[in-house]
Amino acid sequence: MSDFTDLPQALPAAVLNEAGLNRQAVFALAELPAEMRASLEAIAPLAGYRQLILIGQGGRRLWECVKASGIRSADPIDDFTVRTIAQCFAAHLPDNRYQLLYPSHHPIGLQQLGSLAGWHHASPFMVGIDAEWGSWSAYRAVVLADTRFPVSSPVHRSHPCSACRTQDCIAACPAGALGDGPFKLERCVAYRKQPDSACRTTCLARLACPVGVRHRYTDEQISHSYSISLRMIEEFY
Ligand code: SF4
Ligand code: SF4
Repeated sequence: MSDFTDLPQALPAAVLNEAGLNRQAVFALAELPAEMRASLEAIAPLAGYRQLILIGQGGRRLWECVKASGIRSADPIDDFTVRTIAQCFAAHLPDNRYQLLYPSHHPIGLQQLGSLAGWHHASPFMVGIDAEWGSWSAYRAVVLADTRFPVSSPVHRSHPCSACRTQDCIAACPAGALGDGPFKLERCVAYRKQPDSACRTTCLARLACPVGVRHRYTDEQISHSYSISLRMIEEFY
C-alpha cells in the first residue's frame, strides 16, 4: 500500500523551458553507473536524495532571459541558472530538498551524464553535438533532489558527424587543430592567444558546422562564452 509520498511528481518543465533551461534529463541515483555514483558521492553525500537532474540550454532562449534578468556579474548565466532553479523549487516543489552539484568548482562528468541522457556526441572541435541542436547546447546545472519525477529515457539521435561528407569544421580551423587524429589542444590554445587571432572570442570551426544552425547562439553570447575560455587559457597556459 502506498501513501501520498510515493506518488510520482511532475517536473515543472514548462517553468524551466520558459527560462531557457529547456533540456532536462532525470536519472534515478540508484541506477547510475557505480563509478558515476562514487564520483558524485565524493562531492556531496547522496543519502537522502533519490534523483539526479541534468539541466541544459538548447539554442538562444537562455541568453535572452539572462539579459532580461538584469543580472550583472562575472558569470551571469550561472547566476541566472542558480536563481531560476531556487525559484522553481520554492514555488513548485516547496516540500522537496535539493542540492546543486553544478555550477560549482567541483569536477563533474558533464559529458558522461550527457551521454547517458543521449544528448552528447563528440565533435571534431571537442564540443558536444547532436542532430537537433548541433553544437548550440550546453550543460547548465546538475541537481540532486529527493523528488519522484518520471525517470527520462535516453534521447536516441544519430551522430551528425557520421553522415557529414564535407566536414566543414575541419577546414575552417585556422590552427589546423582538427582532423588527422585527436583534437590538438596545444595548436588551438597557441592560436587563440595570438593578439590578432580570429578565434579570440569565437571558434571558426564551430561556426562552420551546418548542423542545428537555426539554434546558433547570438554573436554576443558566443563572444561572452569564448571570452571566459580565453581568460582561462591566458591564466593556465
Ligand atoms: S561540420 Fe560535420 S564533422 Fe564537423 S562537427 Fe559538423 S557535422 Fe561534425
Ligand atoms: S577555437 Fe579556433 S583554433 Fe580552436 S578549434 Fe576552434 S577554430 Fe580551431
